[in-house]
Amino acid sequence: MIELEGLTKRYGEKVAVDRLTFAVRPGIVTGFLGPNGAGKSTTMRMILGLDHPTAGDVRIDGTHYRQLKDPLTYIGALLDAKAVHGGRSAWNHLLCLAQSNGVPASRVAEVLDVVGLTAVARKKAKGFSYGMGQRLGIAAALLGDPRILMFDEPVNGLDPEGIHWIRNLMKSLAAQGRTVFVSSHLMSEMALTADHLVVIGQGRLLADTSMADFIRTNARSYVRVRTPQRERLLDVLHEAGITVVEAGGEALEVEGGKAERIGELAAQYGLVLHELSPQQASLEEAFMQLTAESVEYHAHAGPGPAPQDWGAGWKGA
Ligand code: ADP
Ligand code: MG
Repeated sequence: MIELEGLTKRYGEKVAVDRLTFAVRPGIVTGFLGPNGAGKSTTMRMILGLDHPTAGDVRIDGTHYRQLKDPLTYIGALLDAKAVHGGRSAWNHLLCLAQSNGVPASRVAEVLDVVGLTAVARKKAKGFSYGMGQRLGIAAALLGDPRILMFDEPVNGLDPEGIHWIRNLMKSLAAQGRTVFVSSHLMSEMALTADHLVVIGQGRLLADTSMADFIRTNARSYVRVRTPQRERLLDVLHEAGITVVEAGGEALEVEGGKAERIGELAAQYGLVLHELSPQQASLEEAFMQLTAESVEYHAHAGPGPAPQDWGAGWKGA
């Protein structure tokens, strides 16, 4: 478990992380979501003791990172900026890490196998593609067989196969009972991977909720219907007690009924349909709405011209 308590980081005037309090629990994938610059990487660096909090506290299984003996056996991490010595082979890179962290050398072959790098284990890491480098970084995170894993934007820059592989890996690590904390600036990515969601914007906590709850609250599902007999269909749906929330042109957006029921009603009354398609409003939109407020807040509160002074500036731009 990772526990943050009022965790705060200031860089001069800039508040990068603003009083974050939440816990990351074992057995599930927790997505750490926020737009670029929201403070995700800064938070993760503080969890690993690479950055000092300005205020607040963060603990790993009740202990500060720096007080852990052989920290790699408690928490493994893949940070945004990779640091692999290119001159070393993948094998040697992992062996050095193992030897300096109280990890048995036998783990090297095991983790290389998990990430699919066994065949290139003796090759120099500087010849690796981006995706292979990412796999090597993940091998390093897994080396100490830690109960907690943390990945900062792990799918950035990967091809679809690599993305698929990382998603499955995170899910299987969580299924083994481990704590998995993974950041992303993409809602669509988290929707496919995370069981729980921590959303931040401008360093502040905006949501700490199960993925299922987030979807239930934010994803509007409806059926898109197009018909040349719009008024008649509206009457029929109204009679049946089905609500139509939005309508433009030939199209209707029907929230209160399933596609089957709408189709059967149309057939019953001999109405022509040009389209009958279930839809789901994107979570990306919900996410952008959630975080947009924090961005606006910042624009008004930050240094620079006051809102009433913007008019002239914008006209000239
Ligand atoms: P994210 O990972 O969510 O994109 P970061 O944690 O990298 O966000 O950055 C959060 C904010 O803190 C940004 O505005 C960034 O410019 C600022 N920041 C991060 N690191 C530093 C630093 N070393 N010095 C000054 N500002 C920084
Ligand atoms: Mg980042």
